[in-house]
Amino acid sequence: MQPDLTEQILELVRLTATDLPPDIEKTLRESRDEEEEGSAARGALDTILENVKMARDNSTPICQDTGTPLFFVNYPEGWSTRKLKRQIQEAVIQATKKSYLRPNSVNTLTGKNTGDNSGDEYYPSVHFEEIEGDQVVIDLILKGGGCENVSTQYKLPDSSLAAGRDLDGVRKVSLDAVVKAQGKGCAPGTLGIAIGGDRGSSYIASKEVLKRKLNDSNPDPSLADLEDKITDQANQLDIGPMGFRGKTTVLGTKIKNLHRLPASYFVSISYMCWAYRRRKMVFKNGTASFE
Ligand code: SF4
Repeated sequence: MQPDLTEQILELVRLTATDLPPDIEKTLRESRDEEEEGSAARGALDTILENVKMARDNSTPICQDTGTPLFFVNYPEGWSTRKLKRQIQEAVIQATKKSYLRPNSVNTLTGKNTGDNSGDEYYPSVHFEEIEGDQVVIDLILKGGGCENVSTQYKLPDSSLAAGRDLDGVRKVSLDAVVKAQGKGCAPGTLGIAIGGDRGSSYIASKEVLKRKLNDSNPDPSLADLEDKITDQANQLDIGPMGFRGKTTVLGTKIKNLHRLPASYFVSISYMCWAYRRRKMVFKNGTASFE
């Protein structure tokens, strides 16, 4: 019989909301050390790092906006996604009662907050994929509203940016998104980019690619090269942490390539703020582990 994972998912939510992953904290620390002594950029990163430590020590949210919960669930054959979704919804409600999450779910027509992060079938956002094997893997990303507001989508070619339907066009629009954000959405950010797909699949893939670790490398050498190039060039824009100028505007870039129609070439950019909250839970042989 399929086990009830509500308790384990609640722990996944707690961990994601309160404990920034080590790879992100390490990159923030390295970026702080590169900023000038006494600069506003260094001060902003010091404050961020202090905040990260306090949140971990006290099991309190890393940022007041605990974001949209985005769940990516890989499950074995035979599992009920209906039950899993209900358990995820219940875990999110319990996490809100325990103040790991802020009540963030608002009816768009009435403006009424449900008060416990319950919502409709799209909130929290849950994506399922059946996989081989006997384990359940759940990735959770909490994506803040400010960084979602500066996320965007381009359609190539884009004559205003002289961006054609090639990787250099992708580079140009990605840097344009960073310039337009100007530190809003709480830089330093990380860029999740999807190339291709339709408008919907492209946006979802640009969020899902943020499951990757900051220090990993894209298996496609041309995309790995582009990821490094965009990060380096974004960091030469002198926008800096929170827009205070400096060397650290983005922490990294992650790109996913999707098939597309001949007629369309979308580039979707999900800007993730410094509060890059993502965690993974693996449930196997009756036990959950977290990373
Ligand atoms: S964008 Fe991120 S860091 Fe900024 S307020 Fe929102 S959740 Fe917090």
